[in-house]
Amino acid sequence: MECKEYTGYIGNAGYGLDYNPETKKTISAHRLSFKLHYGYLPKIVMHICNNKTCINPLHLKDGTQSENILQSYKDGLQINPRRICSKELVLLIYNSKISTRKLAKQYGISQGTVQRIKQGLTYREWTGHGGSCGV
Ligand SMILES: [Zn+2]
Repeated sequence: MECKEYTGYIGNAGYGLDYNPETKKTISAHRLSFKLHYGYLPKIVMHICNNKTCINPLHLKDGTQSENILQSYKDGLQINPRRICSKELVLLIYNSKISTRKLAKQYGISQGTVQRIKQGLTYREWTGHGGSCGV
């Protein structure tokens, strides 16, 4: 099925922003779409189509599992930091205005990893850094 582009307001992070009547706060359009379709809202909603503005619920998936992996990494398990970077996290870091040091601390990954994501040296296929989308 085709992507369903969100036609409303697009926020700084590149995601559509919508109003959540339940919490009376703004919510990412794709998260709201996921909730309306599946009846629950996971902490992380991922796009399987790599299209930030897509709100087709069939293109969205519960990304909580990647967060679990991240959590086990934080808990001290030996997992290669390169592999714990979920797409959602990479995009979050890439679009974030928070300092590299804070981001690294917040997500339990090295400053080098954060820097490489921000500079578009890694995960360029997800961030679309430099305008070239490698997918
Ligand atoms: Zn899509």
